[in-house]
This record gives sequence, structure tokens and C-alpha cells, in this order.
Amino acid sequence: MDIREYRTEIQKLVGQIQQKFEALSEDTVILCEKLEKYGELQREDALIGYACFVRGQYYYIKNDMLNFYREMLRCMRPFENIGEWGYLAVANNLLGIMSLNRGNAPFAMDYYSRALTLCRQYKLPDIEWQIHMNMGALFINVESFENALKHYDLAYQYICMHKELPEYRISMTASLVGLGRAHLSMEHMEEAEECRQKLERECLPYLREIDQLPVYCLLARFYQKTSALEKCQNALKKVSDLFSEDLPIMDVYDDLYDYLMILLETEDYDLFSKMITPITELTRKTTIRNLEQKQVRLLLRYYKMRGDDNHYAQAAVRSVALDEMMEQENKMMVKSMIGLRLEFNELAIVNHQIEEENKTLQIRSQTDPLTGMYNRLRLNSYGETAFERAEKNQVGLAVEILDIDFFKEYNDNYGHQAGDKVIQFIAASIKKMQLGNRVFAARYGGDEFVLIYEGYTDEEVFELAKRLKTIISTEKMPHRYSRTETKYITISQGLYWGVPREGASIWQYLHEADNMLYKVKSRSRNSIMLGHANEEEIKRNSDYLDRKNLVVRSATDEEIFHDD
Ligand code: GH3
Ligand code: MG
Repeated sequence: MDIREYRTEIQKLVGQIQQKFEALSEDTVILCEKLEKYGELQREDALIGYACFVRGQYYYIKNDMLNFYREMLRCMRPFENIGEWGYLAVANNLLGIMSLNRGNAPFAMDYYSRALTLCRQYKLPDIEWQIHMNMGALFINVESFENALKHYDLAYQYICMHKELPEYRISMTASLVGLGRAHLSMEHMEEAEECRQKLERECLPYLREIDQLPVYCLLARFYQKTSALEKCQNALKKVSDLFSEDLPIMDVYDDLYDYLMILLETEDYDLFSKMITPITELTRKTTIRNLEQKQVRLLLRYYKMRGDDNHYAQAAVRSVALDEMMEQENKMMVKSMIGLRLEFNELAIVNHQIEEENKTLQIRSQTDPLTGMYNRLRLNSYGETAFERAEKNQVGLAVEILDIDFFKEYNDNYGHQAGDKVIQFIAASIKKMQLGNRVFAARYGGDEFVLIYEGYTDEEVFELAKRLKTIISTEKMPHRYSRTETKYITISQGLYWGVPREGASIWQYLHEADNMLYKVKSRSRNSIMLGHANEEEIKRNSDYLDRKNLVVRSATDEEIFHDD
């Protein structure tokens, strides 16, 4: 979204939103609402999408799951409409993280996959690498280490080539820790050793203390696996030193969880009991039940190992309560997911199909199958709007109805199929005229066609009608049974022209054109008759129009006949 395209007022509002969001102020929500309303008024999907997205991000950081899901889902349709694939990928990525944190790995997998597909399809490598990181973490979580390796490796490769990344060292550390952990779990000791070296040489010296914590967690695991017990203990101690209450627990939760596991496995009960309380406290603050539940399970294990039945019972009660809360959360997650699925996949596909079918049906219902021309249905809707337009602009509008002469005789003698060819020939002749968008043509039914001319003078319309007649007659399509002199296919044309006045309608013009046709047919065939709606015009054109508004012109002798 390029905010420079918007009014200064909107640019200012977006600027304020960004400021408030960075300060994590509640005003973010209110300002976003304002932007969303404006977007709705202006039908600007970009503004609506952005307003929902920022609100979603705000709730994500606030860990407000319900609101987060709602806003992130709401931003998707507007973003899809305008092809903001980057925002869509990030939204899916956040949904994935939220789902994984809440213990729903399959959902997380689904969101990440979608984010990844978007990145691949629309070439968004700067977002893609972050999704690979998250997928790596997901696969570690479900102990699918081979897959974790693949994703961490892709992320690592990207990071190495992009030293300009704002958190280059931290990102490199995270990918190496991930790789190291996956290798260790698969007993790839050489590769794990390689990761360790890289972390110690290329990361640790450049990291702030607080960012070193995940590295020492991994080192503890590495040394425990390689039975370097002293080094393991040093690393474990280092983690407890680095730990602080201000730690962004969400970023290091998995590292600390593994750390506590090592403490239990190495039966370092003192350090475990010292560390479990503040870590649990931080975890509880996130209100993410799934993470708290993981903590409680560690505690249960600890109390069991220590034979502390009292505390074990207390922790068990908490665990059951958490389970119940998580069940509720999970229902909510499933609901959101179903909503999203319906809206953006199955339903979107079905809707698309329905739209396509409707279009074909509509085209079919408005098209005459024999000639491919518009039919009477389309004529009705087109005629009304054309008439209104001409009335508004005060320009001439003419309706022409043309009919094949002695067509019944043709059908009876040459056969119905041959008759069809004649109808197609007339349609082709109309097309040959290459009339622009100010002329509409349709098959009226049987051997009749209708043309609507917009913005032409009566003379121009008459000339056009004459041209069509000439095109048809010069083709000299034999009609031995025609009762005209020519013995070729000919047409008769009735026209009605006027500058629409109040109270008149397209139906009136059609009716009058039909009258003209009737009149011309009863007088002769192969002729044109044009009627006038406006007296003033008749006077001005009195050189070839008579008092009764009628002109009859024969195509053969080019003579004007007056109706009397
Ligand atoms: P007129 O000069 O007075 O118009 O005489 P006409 O014989 O053309 O009389 P009319 O216009 O009433 O005849 C229309 C004929 O067109 C009658 C019908 O058999 C034939 N017709 C209608 N629809 C079709 C069609 O789709 N294909 C064919 N081949 N004939 C059709
Ligand atoms: Mg006819």
C-alpha cells in the first residue's frame, strides 16, 4: 500500500496509526476504526485491509486471541481484492504463529503453507525466509526434524546472503540454533558441531547478553549430548545468569523449555526449582494456556521425581483447569479456521464457478444462438438506458426495425435450413457495417432485427439504413420466390427518430418504428420509412420530409415517397 496516493488527511491518519502502534497505545484501535470507516465510504479496499491488519497486529502483540483472529481474517478479503500479497502472507504467518503457540500445529502448518505459497507465487523472499524459520520451529515442535532442517537451512541461506537485514546477527543465531537443535535430535554430531562453532565464532561475540540466551541453551544441550558434563553445567549456569524478568518470553520459550528439560534430565533440582518459578510466571503473563500447560507438565514431572505428592496434586488440579480452558480456545480456533477456509478457499472457488456460470448463462440468455447477436432481452435493458442517456444529453435517438421480404416463401421453397442461412446473412451484413458503440443491433425474433442509433441526426440515420440496404442488395442472394421485382433477398426498414422528450419512452419509439415497418410493407417492399418524433426537426428538414413526418425511400430508384 502506497499511502502517498491518498489525501493528506489520510496520509496523516496512517502516520498516526503507525506511531500509536509502535507505542502499543490503545489509540491504535480507535484510529484504525476511523481509517476503516473512511475506507468503506470511499470503497478503498487498501484502507480497509490495512486498518484491520494493523488492529490484528496490535491484538497479536497483546496476545488477545479472539480479536486477533477476527481482525486478521477481516483484512484478508480486501487485501485479496487488490492483490496485496505481502500483507496476506504476513497475516497468514501471524495466524500460524498464534495457532502454534496455542498448541494447534496442524492449523499452524496450514497457515504457514499458505503464507509460503503466496511468497513463492508473488516472489516475496524477504517474507519467505521468516516463514521458513517459523516452519522450522513448527517441525521441531512436532519432532519432524528432517523437515525442520530443510526449512531452517533455507532461512539460514537467505540470512547469510543478506547482511543488511536489520537484525542480521539475531536472525542468523536463531537459524543456527534451530539447525543445531534439529541435528542434535537426529544425532548428526558433526553437523551439530559445525553449528556450535559458527554460533561461538560468528554470533556470540556480536550479540547483546539477552540475545545470547538461546545460544547457551543450545550449548547446554550439545554438551549434554556429547557428555561434556562440566561444559554443560557452565552453559546451564550461564542461562540462569542471563535470565531476566524483562525477557521477551515468546521469542525464547522453546529454548527455555528445552533448558528446563535438561535440568530435569541432569537432575539439577536446585537450578530447576530456582528457574521454573520465574519462567512459569512470565509464561502465565502471556495468557497462552498451552505454554502454561507445558510448564505445569514439567512441574508435575519434577514433583513426581522428588516424591512431592502435595505439590503434585496441586499442579494436577491446575493442569486439568488449563486443559478445560484450552478446549474452549481450540473450539474458537477451529471456528475461525473453518470460517477462513470457507471464505477463502472452497467458497471462493465455488463463488468463482457460480460467477462464471452466471456469466455464461447471462451471455446465453442475452444472445441469439443462430446469429450470435444480442436478443430481445438485451434489447430491453439496453434500450432503456440508451433512451435515458439520449434524453439527458438531448441528442437524437432512432429505432429501426427491419424485416426480410417474403421470407416465408423462401423458407417454404428453399427449406428451413437455407432460411437460417439467410438470417445469418442479414446478421453478417449488419456486422459488416462496423457500426461503433453508438449503434446497438439485436435479433428481434423471426426474420426481424432491431437497431438503436444514438446521437445521430435523422439524415445520418437514414443514410446508415440505406447503406445496410445496399450491402444486402449488392450481395444478390437469390430469392426466386420473392414477390419483389429483384428476385434477390431484400429487406424493409421502418425507422423512428427523435430527440427524446419528457414522457416518451423507448417502447414508444419501438412501437412507432414497427408502425413504420408495417406501413412500408403495406406500400411496397425493399424500402425505408422514417418517422419523426419532433415537429421542429421536420420543419428544418422540410426539403425531404413531409408534413406527416414520413419518408419512404425505395432502394432501387432512390426516390422519396410520401405517405398519405
Ligand atoms: P413479409 O415480406 O411481409 O415480411 O413476408 P414474410 O414472408 O417475411 O412474412 P413474415 O415476416 O411474417 O414471415 C416470417 C417467417 O420467418 C415465418 C417463419 O417461418 C420464419 N422464421 C421465423 N424464425 C425463423 C428461424 O429461426 N429460421 C427460419 N429459417 N425461419 C424462421
Ligand atoms: Mg418478413
